[in-house]
Amino acid sequence: MKVLFASSEIFPHAKSGGLSDVSSALSETLAAEEGVELSRVMPRYSFIEKKKLKPFKRAEVFLGGTCHEVNFYKLEKSGVVTYFVDAPLLSETLGMYGEAGEDYSNNDLRFGIFAAAIVELARLLDVSLLHLNDWQCALAALFIKERELDIKTLFTIHNLAYQGVFEVGALSRLGIDSKHFHSDGLEFYGKVNFLKAGIGWCDALTSVSPSYAQEIQTPEYGCGLDGFVRLHAKKLTGILNGIDQNHFNPKKDKLIPFRYDANNLDAKHQNKTAFLKATPLKDPRKPLFVMISRLAEQKGLDLVLESLESLLAEKINLYVVGEGSASYKERLEANNGKYENFYFHNGYDEALSHQAYAAADFMLIPSRYEPCGLTQFIAMRYGAIPLVRSVGGLKDSVHEEEALCGRGIVFEPYAKEAFLEAFARALALKKNSKKYKAWQEQNMGCDFSFAQGAQEYLNLYKSLM
Ligand code: ADP
Repeated sequence: MKVLFASSEIFPHAKSGGLSDVSSALSETLAAEEGVELSRVMPRYSFIEKKKLKPFKRAEVFLGGTCHEVNFYKLEKSGVVTYFVDAPLLSETLGMYGEAGEDYSNNDLRFGIFAAAIVELARLLDVSLLHLNDWQCALAALFIKERELDIKTLFTIHNLAYQGVFEVGALSRLGIDSKHFHSDGLEFYGKVNFLKAGIGWCDALTSVSPSYAQEIQTPEYGCGLDGFVRLHAKKLTGILNGIDQNHFNPKKDKLIPFRYDANNLDAKHQNKTAFLKATPLKDPRKPLFVMISRLAEQKGLDLVLESLESLLAEKINLYVVGEGSASYKERLEANNGKYENFYFHNGYDEALSHQAYAAADFMLIPSRYEPCGLTQFIAMRYGAIPLVRSVGGLKDSVHEEEALCGRGIVFEPYAKEAFLEAFARALALKKNSKKYKAWQEQNMGCDFSFAQGAQEYLNLYKSLM
């Protein structure tokens, strides 16, 4: 079975969040499966050097009467071929989607070209299945159906909140027939919604955890699309994400100063001491709570900020690293220097994040909603106990009660009291060092890879053939 896996970000070439990690780990796991010949495609952004890639083919895509020249490049690595779409509008900007917190105003055209190029490449490679991810690829599902191509499409929703919504002029710019502009089609409150193209026109639909697949059918978590998702619920499956366990492996991780495993947790403590030394936080005897997160409302930063005084009144250290919304950045930064046991590092830093996972005793993930979340898996792999809100993929992967895998502290209502109660349980757990260590060891021995998830995707692929 020939499959083309399309995503706007694939690690290590481009990353803004979990989509990149998942695109990489899932596609590599699937590519290693017997009977699957999988290649992948992503944009060539300006920061991906052309000289490291091999020219593949030149093509033209027609959108709204305009011809856009596209060059495909390729790279073979880790047993997978990745194709890169190079087109002036897509490839000559500094960022992937925008700059300084502002999306590019022509993202409709940029990702319209990307979607059309995906379809062109699928034809060139003669694939039978196209696996599309998120709104940036979504129009490809519509283009395939419009052109009546014999290619099946599977569309994965990684985060329903990001929909790619544009002014109605996008239709003519992209040559999309206005007959699709209605509420059961692409229309969304008078605008054009790219994500709806993926949901509406795909042959199979997945989301990244069983709980999230249910939640997005409710008004609370449906981001205005719950009715539309319910309309297509028959083709929807929830498949839990996994992580690349080679990349996230404290035993081999070159980004951390002291490598360790479950039999050598003293070295984890050395990481903690080294990490704290490089921050204003001191006293490695205090439990270290870490949060590694995009600064977005989704991630529960309001709850953390609202509870900050109570959290920091305890003998703990709290370290937050993140990048994103200016207002969260300001509110977090305002606490630097105010408390001796709090530090916020603003920025996106892969190496620092690995060091923080290795140093942490607990990972805070109090999300408002969480399609799957990866930081809980990475934390558990590095022997940090996750403290999570029971929602989406967090609910499916972290359990406070007796469980074989995925032990952590779990709370349910999005409220300060529930959060602080969970925090108190975390402190009690840390005091019971035997139990704390048992949870660490249990988590570090778990399989959080894509092994099982990939089988579920594979079964879906087969069902479409
Ligand atoms: P989302 O995709 O919603 O941002 P996930 O939990 O699915 O959240 O994935 C987040 C990924 O991005 C993880 O690999 C996490 O370690 C990483 N990450 C998040 N913020 C930062 C940061 N500031 N610096 C480095 N890595 C980060």
